[in-house]
Amino acid sequence: MAHKRTHEMGRGGVCTCPKCETKIPHKRGVPCIKTICPECGAKMLRVDSEHHKSFLNKKKK
Ligand SMILES: [Zn+2]
Repeated sequence: MAHKRTHEMGRGGVCTCPKCETKIPHKRGVPCIKTICPECGAKMLRVDSEHHKSFLNKKKK
């Protein structure tokens, strides 16, 4: 299986919670940022999205 990394945001995808790191499958038509974490109620981020990248960058520092 090829590990192809694209910037495509279309299909599949995972939403992750910046607070508790819960991951859930992204729901089609519902942006992760509008998805509420089932564990802690925070707004979720799409894995590999711009928001998620900047979140990870902030976390690193
Ligand atoms: Zn959470």
